[in-house]
Amino acid sequence: MSSNLFNLEGKTALITGGNGGIGLGIAKGFAVSGADIAIAGRNENKTVEAIASLSDTNSTLLGLEVDVSDQNSVEKMVADTLKKFGKIDILVNNAGIGIRNLPHEYSLEDWNKVIDINLTGAFLCSKAVYGNMKDRGSGKIINIGSMTSIFGLDWAVAYASSKGGIVQLTKTLAVSWAKDGIQANSILPGWIHTDLTQGIKDNYQERYDHILSRIPENRWGEPSDLSGTAIFLASDASNYVTGISIPVDGGYTSF
Ligand code: NDP
Repeated sequence: MSSNLFNLEGKTALITGGNGGIGLGIAKGFAVSGADIAIAGRNENKTVEAIASLSDTNSTLLGLEVDVSDQNSVEKMVADTLKKFGKIDILVNNAGIGIRNLPHEYSLEDWNKVIDINLTGAFLCSKAVYGNMKDRGSGKIINIGSMTSIFGLDWAVAYASSKGGIVQLTKTLAVSWAKDGIQANSILPGWIHTDLTQGIKDNYQERYDHILSRIPENRWGEPSDLSGTAIFLASDASNYVTGISIPVDGGYTSF
């Protein structure tokens, strides 16, 4: 047994949506634990800034452009990561968007966009890294779900459906690929301060405060709050843990 079960030295992690918010919080945690990191997003400027914010670590870094809902783009992202690092030990399916509207007013176009990025994207990225992980007999897939993987939310019909799907995708990947040495798990973040939720704070103060009143830890989370659980699920410490979804939510789901 390793003296430090949580050590990620010598491992390569690919993080979609790693150029901001929760993805960057996880990238920072992985860097401290010694992993080399590829971060991929759509916005090139954000990716350049994110790479710069990690440059004082010992990690070898790679920034990539990807649209996770596009299979060719995903395959190129994986090929470019393999070209640079030769392997992918850890995939974090973190890229995600939300479009808010009530179910009866939700357009098919918006529904498809959210499902394509949040759920199909995670499927495509997992499928694309499978060959390399299988060939080496090990791999860690970490999917980012949400409180809406569990709860309903009036203005999040497509988002909640995609995040519910993430839990089942995780179980299916875990069951299918355990024989290949691959573990797949999800993190279900609570309410975290990022660009995605900034609009609630700015425009819906009452809703923001109501959510806060439901969090036993009595604060919204920060991206760095996710890194400990992500390191656990990326490391040898979780080699017998697969198919589960862990809320990291300040107690929100227990209240
Ligand atoms: P951000 O908006 O900060 O991050 C979303 C990330 O996804 C960005 O880096 C963005 O990159 C990337 N992204 C979006 N669409 C695509 C795409 N088509 N292809 C590639 N990358 C894409 O929000 P969060 O950090 O909050 O969100 C990260 C994940 O956490 C999401 O899956 C979200 O659903 C989930 N989550 C967030 C919670 C919160 O309270 N903040 C709670 C629960 C879950 P770019 O800007 O370059 O497009």
